[in-house]
Amino acid sequence: MKINSERLLKNLEELSYIGRNEGGGIDRAFGSKSDLEAREWLIRYWKEHLGIETRIDAAANLWVDYQKKEGCLPLVIGSHHDAVPDGGRYDGALGVLLATEILETLMEAKLKLNHPLSVVSFTGEEPNPFNLSTIGSKVLCGRLTRESLENCISRDNGERIADALARAGGNLERLPSARLTKEDLFAFLECHIEQGSRLEKKNLPTAAVTCITGIYREQYTVQGEANHAGTTVMTDRKDAYLAAAELSLMLERIALEFQDDDVVATVGYVEVQPNEANIIPGVTQCIVDIRTYDTAVKALFVARITDAVSRIEEKRGVKIKREVLLDQLHMPMHPDVIQAVCQGVQSVQEKVPELVSMAGHDAANLARVTKSGMIFVRSVDGKSHCKEEYSTPEDIEKVGNAMLQAVLALDRSDKSETI
Ligand SMILES: [Zn+2]
Repeated sequence: MKINSERLLKNLEELSYIGRNEGGGIDRAFGSKSDLEAREWLIRYWKEHLGIETRIDAAANLWVDYQKKEGCLPLVIGSHHDAVPDGGRYDGALGVLLATEILETLMEAKLKLNHPLSVVSFTGEEPNPFNLSTIGSKVLCGRLTRESLENCISRDNGERIADALARAGGNLERLPSARLTKEDLFAFLECHIEQGSRLEKKNLPTAAVTCITGIYREQYTVQGEANHAGTTVMTDRKDAYLAAAELSLMLERIALEFQDDDVVATVGYVEVQPNEANIIPGVTQCIVDIRTYDTAVKALFVARITDAVSRIEEKRGVKIKREVLLDQLHMPMHPDVIQAVCQGVQSVQEKVPELVSMAGHDAANLARVTKSGMIFVRSVDGKSHCKEEYSTPEDIEKVGNAMLQAVLALDRSDKSETI
């Protein structure tokens, strides 16, 4: 049994027109017109081609349930249909459409699985005007509650998230009904583009994901002294920006010393005050993002930063205030799902590399309520979250067939329990 890759690629192409901007990127953030259009496209496709009416939960996640039966937990496959601003056509969409293709292939083959199979497209996985990501899967696992969303509004137009959810078919009042537990799901498997270049370096189209990275974010506020850029001699300065720059370079050095591709650090946000050409910066704020799958590495990294901060404070006469913004633990994928993915991957290629996902995903939230796992597709030039994002049709076909086999393996993995 094989997937119909032509049909999958055609669907990918069609969905990519929804939200396409003039430059060729895709704007499809949660709550936007194109988010709603993409939802309509999926609902229509599932009705016309699978003959299944979409179920929309209170978090506006879209579900198609195949062979639902009482007392038998479903195997769930899928991803998200929203996109980052000016994003690409594969991130999320490929996972939803491949899940759809797998279901369509199984229906055509009239194959009976041990478990009911559901396809899901999650609400608001990517950053959006509500400043929340993985909204749908966070609601499922209880990380977002009705109370925590009640006062959430769009930074663009002040719309309440309750209204955005309602437009997409959700219902903030009924949000607790979307909560799932271990008694509701058998397993979850998500296909996603790699969003890095490790598979390209290995010259392989796919890999099993073993773990989703932990993310640690700290905000640093460096307090120096603003002064005249011409009259203040170099030795008298307390330049807040230079202190932040030195700290940033130090972070790069610390990250490199771990000599591990799965340990990375970034200073992606910097704000200099007063930000004028003829004034020495008095205050600089920056946000540091550290990712690793290992809590011991994180602890060591943070200890090294603490050393660096006091050295820089002393050397430059500045004060550095620190605030932890996010401390999200790494999330291992479930061994049963990893094993099923490895079996699937073995059916299309010799080697089965195991990778840590360095990006966050819905699968990490699902891991809190069920056996969760992921399969990656090679990203050409490691590009993602941009319009250049690309995976070849050949890779997509291979990974599609690997995932089909993984779904079958996973379905059979607990036969005794389901009979
Ligand atoms: Zn994604």
